[in-house]
Amino acid sequence: MGRTYDVAGVRRGDVVQNMFGYGLFTGGLGFHYGARAIGATIVPTSSGNTKRQLLLMKDLKTKAVTCTPSYMVYLCEASRAEGYEPKRDFNLRVGIFGAEPWSEEARRKIEDVFGLRAHDIYGMSELYGPGVGIECQNRTGLHVWGDEFLVEALNPDTGEVLEPGKEGELAFTMLSREAMPLLRYRSRDLSKVLMEDCACGRCHPRIQRIKGRSDDMLIIGGVNVFPSQIEHVLMNIPDLGDQYQIIVSHKELDRLAVKAETSADKVDDPALLRRVHDDLLAVLSINADVELVPVGTFPRSEVGKARRVFDLRQKQ
Ligand SMILES: [Zn+2]
Repeated sequence: MGRTYDVAGVRRGDVVQNMFGYGLFTGGLGFHYGARAIGATIVPTSSGNTKRQLLLMKDLKTKAVTCTPSYMVYLCEASRAEGYEPKRDFNLRVGIFGAEPWSEEARRKIEDVFGLRAHDIYGMSELYGPGVGIECQNRTGLHVWGDEFLVEALNPDTGEVLEPGKEGELAFTMLSREAMPLLRYRSRDLSKVLMEDCACGRCHPRIQRIKGRSDDMLIIGGVNVFPSQIEHVLMNIPDLGDQYQIIVSHKELDRLAVKAETSADKVDDPALLRRVHDDLLAVLSINADVELVPVGTFPRSEVGKARRVFDLRQKQ
């Protein structure tokens, strides 16, 4: 992570505000200790509490910020709503964003509003957390630290190793770790490996920005969510039927809505609503919008699988 910060231009003495969540998530502590390793000053704000984030960002003249790209897009509007003029009131020069896919449009917006340079980062908990790779100043893919990780793209159906430049599922082999070795560990992230020289002079291979997943995992506000986790929660609540829908949308921030069928007399039961909400929160760490609907609301599918997951974010 220290080397990763260095690629983004963060140096000894710079103030880094780490808005990734601390606790049972490798993001917060990975960014924290990486900043300490290069002698930067770390402001461990963790996620949330937007007013305080902005106040500290101004008062401490934060130079670099780290968070999910969707949260930084949210701060574009939130900072103005709080009366700040971002380029005048903040001293941001560098942003390191990751834990979810994001677009070039989001990057342009963040850079225009805050006047910083935005870098995409890659990592996953099984590979130490953040700091597996990052974009250099040329931003032609993310350099993966080739002395630590062997990165390959596989055909997701057959497991066959693909030539560099061909799109597939990224797989990682740890080259130096001893306690938990991983051999061709499948990430389920779709991308391609680029072996050509980079104009920055680094000889570490690059991966293209992540295009999507080869499984059904959703990334909601930087949190990994499998639909099966939601189903498991719902099936353990006796008053619910077995039909449900999961709706993911985006308005300033990602939102998760869960609609579940129950008997007509329970639709407005506040205790049942609270239980569904709290059980989902306990498992996913996400505040979901829960709605109970009468049995028979959702269409039954006679052939094949019922469509239960609706990710509206692309259209929005
Ligand atoms: Zn480069």
